[in-house]
Amino acid sequence: MILMLFGPPGVGKGTQANRLTQYYRCEKFSMGDILREEVAIQSESGKKAESHMIQGVLVPDTLIFEIVDSFLIENKANGILFDGFPRNLNQAINLNTSLSRLNLRLNLALEMDLDEREISARLLNRRYCPVCNRLYNLVSNPPRKDEVCDQCKKPLIKREDDTETVIQKRMQVYQEETAPLTKYYKSLNCYQKVPAIGSEDDVFNNIVQVINAHNLKK
Ligand code: AMP
Repeated sequence: MILMLFGPPGVGKGTQANRLTQYYRCEKFSMGDILREEVAIQSESGKKAESHMIQGVLVPDTLIFEIVDSFLIENKANGILFDGFPRNLNQAINLNTSLSRLNLRLNLALEMDLDEREISARLLNRRYCPVCNRLYNLVSNPPRKDEVCDQCKKPLIKREDDTETVIQKRMQVYQEETAPLTKYYKSLNCYQKVPAIGSEDDVFNNIVQVINAHNLKK
């Protein structure tokens, strides 16, 4: 199965993508995580991506395509969950072409839907572990010990782009560039909206229900 999870920043894609990849035993492709790792090691692509990420705007497509294409070649035999990719129409069309070339196709594009005020609150309280990438929310899903990862015991980090000004910019970019994917995936008959309100478990169950209703091969 090849799935794609999209929705505004902070809607909970990362958390749900982690759970879904464990549940369906598929490979997760998180463009944001990959880019943050590239920035952390200051690779050539990391250096090119960094200034865009700090401003909350999209990284140029050429850089994105290089990363995606090498992932697809390595994982063409696996189930895949795309998290945070594609982010605009050009990337979506390019992904479709790359998948067709490998005789694959996207089975479901799931859009997570949540009120904008709830999203801002979630983003400002979001923290992550720099070692295992596990996500926390200081209010709704706090670590056992204050700001330390339950698994790795490393201090949690607040993302540099989780500030009010950058959040606003990222929301705007989402509305302008990513939201039009709804129409595109509707035209390909693989679009489904899922409510992202409620607890992490509620949202997970909503998504699993939708996926299972499609009887996809794992
Ligand atoms: P995310 O972790 O998905 O919120 O992404 C964090 C940042 O990484 C975004 O604000 C963009 O700057 C960059 N980014 C992530 N995915 C993409 C993508 N598919 N295309 C371009 N930039 C991306």
